Amino acid sequence: MTRQKISVASPILNGNEKKYVLDCIETAWISSNGKYIREFEDKFATFCNVKHSISCCNGTVALHLPLLAYGVGPGDEIIVPTLTYIATANAVVYCGAKPVLVDSEPITWNIDPVKIEEKITKNTKGIIVAHLYGHPVDMDPIMDIAKKYNLFVIEDAAEAHGALYKNRKVGSIGDVGTFSFFGNKIITTGEGGMIVTNNDELNEKIRLLKGQGMDPQRRYWFQIVGYNYRMTNIEAAIGLAQLEKISWHLNKRREVADLYYKHLSELSDYIELPIEREWARHSFWMFSILLKDRVKISRDEFMGLLDSDGIETRPIFYPMHVMPPYFEKENNYPVANLVSSRGMNIPSHGLLSEEDIQYIASRVKKYCLQYLK
Ligand SMILES: *Cc1c(COP(=O)(O)O)cnc(C)c1O
Repeated sequence: MTRQKISVASPILNGNEKKYVLDCIETAWISSNGKYIREFEDKFATFCNVKHSISCCNGTVALHLPLLAYGVGPGDEIIVPTLTYIATANAVVYCGAKPVLVDSEPITWNIDPVKIEEKITKNTKGIIVAHLYGHPVDMDPIMDIAKKYNLFVIEDAAEAHGALYKNRKVGSIGDVGTFSFFGNKIITTGEGGMIVTNNDELNEKIRLLKGQGMDPQRRYWFQIVGYNYRMTNIEAAIGLAQLEKISWHLNKRREVADLYYKHLSELSDYIELPIEREWARHSFWMFSILLKDRVKISRDEFMGLLDSDGIETRPIFYPMHVMPPYFEKENNYPVANLVSSRGMNIPSHGLLSEEDIQYIASRVKKYCLQYLK
């Protein structure tokens, strides 16, 4: 019997998604006005324990808007991790500013707080951290640095809905938090994003920017050159239904992670498994493994073997500094280089059964042992 291919990610729409979307269609509220937008925003603010939550059309825009609101522009520098999804750095470039890259720390692969200060110049305006694959960044040292140099902190929480740093929701710790609801994220709206903040002024600026700059008191009067970065009511309807069940989604991912720990721990001589720091609650957007040196096969070959067994995997992100837009010849990022050349994400979504995970673990084991030296 041939197995169906096991995918890395899969949205799960098992709540009120259909009901709410049908309501949008039946009432013809399908554009960016409508009750689901405000309700989704309000409930998301409550979920993150913040004052304001602003919906927008994707997670990249969710990063662009606060940078615009802070007035980031040419000549400015923003600290970003080199190991992240490219949107984190791109949003900085959209403003005409320069992303300044920082290496990862070896345990969580997140931005290394110890390596930030040496990258700060008189042009540095802010720091963007990304909670990579769902593990929170160690925020305290970063907030200290930001305070010392008077920098803003944006948390790119696109991969970490519901993750906790010292019992606080990620996104609520820095000045601004941003989320993505792309189809492969922990909860989805298809395409979509959210910005959270406790700062009233920032909230107003961001709302103005995302709605073409239209004066909230005077229709068709534009105060500034803004953007159309709005979410639709249909997307918000899906988002609200997803959010209603977010505990279920997070629990499912943790169950999957627990099963991986159960079935892969015996391979600790061959692969590294994700570590959850004592102050963290991982949201396990992606479960990652890192091939140790004694596995004498390249990561890409390893992924190819799993693929031939019907198991989809993804390489760990290529660090920014090796790709054309952000290339740096000097390449002084040893941790990110190692992780991105030896690491991969294995299927991580909530529809995986224990049987799937046992199968994946058995294949990982087979190839670890086969290519040993
Ligand atoms: C997915 C993601 C984004 C961007 O989200 P989109 O909704 O695809 O624009 C930004 N940052 C990180 C770290 C992401 O993983």
